[in-house]
Amino acid sequence: MDKTNVVVIGGGPGGYVAAFRAADLGLETTLVDPEENPGGVCLYRGCIPSKALLHIAAVINEARDAEKLGVSFGEPTIDIDRVRAWKNDVVARNTAGTGELLKRRKITHIRGHARFDDATTLSISLVEGGEQQLSFDHAILATGSRPAEIPSFDIGSDRVMDSTGALELVDLPQRLLVVGGGYIGLEMATAYASLGSKVTVVEMQPGLLPGADRDLVRPLEKRLKETFENILLETTVASLEEAGDKIHVAFKAKDGSTSEDAFDRLLVAVGRRPNSGDVGLENTAVQVDERGFVVVDGARRTAEPTIYAIGDVAGEPMLAHKASHEGIVASEAIAGHKVAFEPQAIPGVVFTDPEVAWCGLTETAAKERGIDVKVSRFPWSASGRATAIGRNDGMTKLVIDPKTERVLGMGITGVNAGDMIAEGVLAVEMAAVARDIALTIHPHPTLSETIMEAAEAFYGQATHIYMPKRR
Ligand code: FAD
Ligand code: NAD
Repeated sequence: MDKTNVVVIGGGPGGYVAAFRAADLGLETTLVDPEENPGGVCLYRGCIPSKALLHIAAVINEARDAEKLGVSFGEPTIDIDRVRAWKNDVVARNTAGTGELLKRRKITHIRGHARFDDATTLSISLVEGGEQQLSFDHAILATGSRPAEIPSFDIGSDRVMDSTGALELVDLPQRLLVVGGGYIGLEMATAYASLGSKVTVVEMQPGLLPGADRDLVRPLEKRLKETFENILLETTVASLEEAGDKIHVAFKAKDGSTSEDAFDRLLVAVGRRPNSGDVGLENTAVQVDERGFVVVDGARRTAEPTIYAIGDVAGEPMLAHKASHEGIVASEAIAGHKVAFEPQAIPGVVFTDPEVAWCGLTETAAKERGIDVKVSRFPWSASGRATAIGRNDGMTKLVIDPKTERVLGMGITGVNAGDMIAEGVLAVEMAAVARDIALTIHPHPTLSETIMEAAEAFYGQATHIYMPKRR
């Protein structure tokens, strides 16, 4: 039987980062993943292909917006085959890069699916056929997650897609129904709507992006109402039926009212489930919680001392950057370092137009937990740069401890919010007080100044808004 020091099961942004770090620390490392190159859901079927499509959406949206500024390009002509080819090329280039980095680090890659036989042995069913056993000193489980399914939607139609199907971009449906107004639903709806589909979103909660602060979502909701055909809130799909080349859908609203409509395709994006069920955990002491997430300690160690777990399979938030940081912690812990995964802030970014981003303590969470905070906002209507790019539909806010003046959280809605939120993460992690941000000279004219002015506003001193009650 082959033997390795560390085996990483799953080559997503959790697993491949863990494997890279383990190898960099001098540990003999093996990665088990079915794909040709590392990347997992994120690089092959998630973050990267969706952002490639959203880039095209951004180009189209910007060209459309330019009409208000006196520049008209006319209606775009979409060559769907070339759009798909470009998206596939982005994936191929990224995954070729991770594959090269894997080889350079001399990590053994076994293409297959692994299952635990016990706390130190795996059986791997190989992609090329056959089975291999591997014994290990330590394993890092990074098998990720898969789309949540609604059993009644399984009508055997390829017109009913999950995110993987929607990213394949088989065609451009004239009318697309997106079930679920969360991260995936809104990002994919944005991409398809920009490419020309008429999009309806159905969300069971009273608002889109239910987890995010309402004031951050409002500017997005306003724009989406203009670009989507319909947004149905507090509504669910009661039934589906395929007839000809349409899917007939019956809706049921919270107030009991019903309605019907027909669509060319459906995207179901109602959350994701951890891949913990089919990896032989029952042959180990590893525990899973009631939702299927593997239970881990600060070092990402499971109840089985030889086995660690990271990424989507080890709990929320199911985000690539969280998975990667956990991977680093797990590998360093295996190498004997005293480490723990204890972030003060994990940024969340929804790459819609405008983008919605937040980190640290949200206003909603502060209210729910009874934490006394002061929220300081700066509207983008007062930002010179936002005006110059014709995008005043944004807002930057800080969630601040009124006693210590520490910045506990940040939220931004607007173009490039996803890039700018990194400043908030740094502020929270470094225990910055609002004055630190207010005194930090931000370049002019940039959208980043809105962060500085939100901090100034906490003291009643924002330059570009008139605040009669100054501190
Ligand atoms: P995954 O990326 O899920 O990788 C797990 C890997 O393990 C896969 O390659 C799988 O084949 C393999 N595997 C599973 N079982 C076994 C087994 N038994 N043996 C061997 N290998 C196995 N997150 C962001 O932060 N930003 C984004 O913009 C973003 N966009 C997204 C867009 C979409 C459409 C989707 C679906 C997700 C998106 N996410 C995004 C979420 C992100 O993809 C996940 O949080 C991230 O991929 C989790 O990484 P992971 O390493 O835990 O697992
Ligand atoms: P989500 O949890 O973000 O959103 C699911 C939405 O579906 C929720 O708003 C929920 O209320 C709604 N819903 C659930 N059941 C429903 C039903 N029967 N009818 C109507 N609405 C229903 O989940 P997702 O969009 O599937 O994404 C999964 C995860 O993937 C995200 O939580 C996130 O962790 C990750 N992701 C991240 C990014 C990013 O970082 N930009 C992008 C995509 C996905």
